Amino acid sequence: MTDKPTEPVYPKLSTISTGLRCRCPRCGEGPLLKGFLTIREACPACGLNYSFADPADGPAFFGMSIVGVVGMALFMWFEFTVHPPVWVHGVVTLPLLLAACLGILRPLKGWMVSEQFVHKAAPPEWESIGKHGEGSRWR
Ligand SMILES: [Zn+2]
Repeated sequence: MTDKPTEPVYPKLSTISTGLRCRCPRCGEGPLLKGFLTIREACPACGLNYSFADPADGPAFFGMSIVGVVGMALFMWFEFTVHPPVWVHGVVTLPLLLAACLGILRPLKGWMVSEQFVHKAAPPEWESIGKHGEGSRWR
């Protein structure tokens, strides 16, 4: 028998479930973000260090793409079925698009961080291979 303490075992959680709720990708309990979009240092529930988490501008890109396609389809439907005056788009359509862009950012950021955790994504590590690629395994 060993006296080695056993580390807690965490069940594999759905990245959709933890990510869209902006919860810790390991325990699913602790919050991932503080404020609107700032990633915490670590999970307050299980202590997972969030230093691996760096989705960069991925959430903004996917949010812009999703809202752009869906928003444009809804805009065109609204324009061609209701035929509203232009000022209605300024009062209704633009605020809705802005709200959709801002509302989708947090869930997308949580989902991307969860995917990074599950797939153990890490920043690339570069190493010089010398002049003219000598020693490179790609020659
Ligand atoms: Zn946690």
